[in-house]
Amino acid sequence: MTSCNTILLNGNLPESIQEAAKILNNKGLVAFPTETVYGLGANALDEEAAAKIYEAKGRPSDNPLIVHIADIDAVYTLASEVPENAVLLMEAFWPGPLTIILPKVGIVPDGTTGGLDTIAIRMPSHPVALELIRESGLYIAAPSANSSGRPSPTLASHVMEDMDGRIEAVIDGGAVGIGIESTIVDLTGDIPTILRPGFITKSMLEAIVGEVAIDPALVEPDPNLRPKAPGMKYTHYAPKGQLTIVEGHNGVAEKINSLAQEKASQGYTVAVITTRENASAYDCPYVLVAGERSHGETIAANLYAVLRQCDDLGCDYIYSEAFGDSELGGAIMNRLLKAAGHRVINV
Ligand code: AMP
Ligand code: MG
Repeated sequence: MTSCNTILLNGNLPESIQEAAKILNNKGLVAFPTETVYGLGANALDEEAAAKIYEAKGRPSDNPLIVHIADIDAVYTLASEVPENAVLLMEAFWPGPLTIILPKVGIVPDGTTGGLDTIAIRMPSHPVALELIRESGLYIAAPSANSSGRPSPTLASHVMEDMDGRIEAVIDGGAVGIGIESTIVDLTGDIPTILRPGFITKSMLEAIVGEVAIDPALVEPDPNLRPKAPGMKYTHYAPKGQLTIVEGHNGVAEKINSLAQEKASQGYTVAVITTRENASAYDCPYVLVAGERSHGETIAANLYAVLRQCDDLGCDYIYSEAFGDSELGGAIMNRLLKAAGHRVINV
């Protein structure tokens, strides 16, 4: 891995976007804000450039990249077939946090799609992302800009923690809005199928295209089921300490307090992840508030930052409430369960 001096660019300045576009056109890597999480961008049609993403992230080579575009016409350049459902979903949700899977054309290198004959495409709504795609004149392959296995970055400083010295530049656009990765929908079969839940929920999709399925591998962790999105099979988003989710209608805080006190008495550093509504129920030095239970989007926006904070605090054990009260809660729990390696206690 070649090391370089990573520059931090101010996302409010047009010169920053020009500089970043130049780097991308010279086969370099630039991290940039999107409305979901920060992305790590490279020229999607240049196999050599895309390969650098895998190297910088330590990403398994079978885990394909999402290609970011700024203009719907690009879909017809990158995909060999664009079904009616794709047109309807693009019109309804783009620019925005929805990725669609379509059959790819030959100009898209295998290095970008992990050897698959399909391509993942998204038009982000973040103005910096859109300007960068337009200014570069490229299609930009961009997975989340974290080291593989760490929580996705929702601030430029998170990207720097993981990528300093490994990539040419980071564009600082402040905190992202949504905080969890895009919803992925496979449109290559008869029924649109969710491969990764996100801010765009199943019922939002169904309102546009009718019946929508969910990849069965997402519903129950089953070693015999292979997720259709290769990335969904990896342990992801994990903090360094051991995270346990405590779930139930009554007695959650009592259980967490007793587990936390037991570990603290053994000399371990312990944190609790909770909501604004419940924070006062905990008796632990580190009580981390992810957001408001009554506003699930605040939890989505803060979840990864809170998981990173657990690392900054040097936590050995972390106990979290569950946040699955809404449809968006399902997408949040998908990430939290993976971060916890599916370690759940029911009370
Ligand atoms: P990331 O951008 O890091 O959040 O990861 C992109 C996600 O999209 C991973 O889970 C990939 O496995 C998934 N993905 C990308 N391309 C495809 C594709 N052609 N088919 C299925 N899943 C894909
Ligand atoms: Mg990722």
